[in-house]
Amino acid sequence: MTTELGHRIARRIALAGPISLADFMAEALGHPTLGYYRTAEALGAAGDFVTAPEISQMFGEIVGAWLAERWQAMGCPAPVRLVELGPGRGTLMADALRATRGVPGFHAALELHLVETSQTLRDRQAAVLAAHAPLWHERFDDVPGGPLLLAANEFFDALPVRQFHCTSGGWAERMVGLAPDGATLCFALAPGLTPFARFLPDAPEGAEAEICESGRALAASIGERVDRHGGWAFIADYGRDVAGPGSSLQAVRGHREASILERPGETDISAHVDFASLAAAALAAGPHVRVFGPAAQRDFLMRLGIVQRAEALKSRASVEQLHTIDAGLARLIAPDQMGSLFRVLAVGDDRCAAPAGFFE
Ligand code: SAH
Repeated sequence: MTTELGHRIARRIALAGPISLADFMAEALGHPTLGYYRTAEALGAAGDFVTAPEISQMFGEIVGAWLAERWQAMGCPAPVRLVELGPGRGTLMADALRATRGVPGFHAALELHLVETSQTLRDRQAAVLAAHAPLWHERFDDVPGGPLLLAANEFFDALPVRQFHCTSGGWAERMVGLAPDGATLCFALAPGLTPFARFLPDAPEGAEAEICESGRALAASIGERVDRHGGWAFIADYGRDVAGPGSSLQAVRGHREASILERPGETDISAHVDFASLAAAALAAGPHVRVFGPAAQRDFLMRLGIVQRAEALKSRASVEQLHTIDAGLARLIAPDQMGSLFRVLAVGDDRCAAPAGFFE
């Protein structure tokens, strides 16, 4: 049994033919009333996945300190657009803003812009960030121009990807079609070779590959703004540093691995972020753009003093809180938890000194 959204996608394919995996993913996550982010309380302990800012306040505090320092490195522009892509429950931004209250002039200079498609999550963000009068946008390109500070945690992994399979003749795109029963969604290769082949590496028959077009376009937009008006972006996600073949798309429902095509709208679907192609797209956007990283989340947070921050919190904590602080620290930095798989990338402009956190 599939979902209402699954039936609708099947009807669309029956009428108009197979769709790309990227189109499927966009519908499954972003459908206005039935998509995963519109309906589910997806995030947090009760949802399908727990993100770094939901694990510990220290994550948002450190990102806030990093952004405030970048603002100073830019010469304290006012106004500055402080943008978060996909703020979820608003936790990262709330922690970042609380941690930077004492930075002279920072809060007075900033204008808060949240890029969020889910009304459920916008309502949640409004509740925790009301004091900063946020403005919401459907897309990053709708945020007004000007000096930029941007944070995105676990945002790029939710952007739709296309998938490809290397046949004996070359790369073909994997589509979503219908099984012979006319109702069940299934994967099928498009006949012939894909025009995306020129973006894909040489690979043996049977190899898989992914391309996230919207991620690359967004990285290019960030690069263009940084080049034109100055600014810095902090991007954290799970992913890989070097481009190459391989598929990573995965589905999770109720904390368990699930099938990608089953129960769209109730299932979280995400792909590993290809940091090399994001960095390349940002760099190509203008001569002033520089990128730093990707670095392991563990190295970034430790260089920014997360261990010392944990000690400071513990010095004022109750016995139960001591355990929560230590457990949160371990989840964020332990190499077998989020420490190594999660990577952080900074995009900024060459008119500023290099940022903290990215060099050995
Ligand atoms: N950054 C948060 C939430 C991560 S989940 C955290 O770390 O906890 C992904 C977030 O991006 C959600 O808020 C989701 O609604 C939003 N989102 C997903 N795809 C989007 C899109 N194409 N445009 C805007 N927001 C999107």
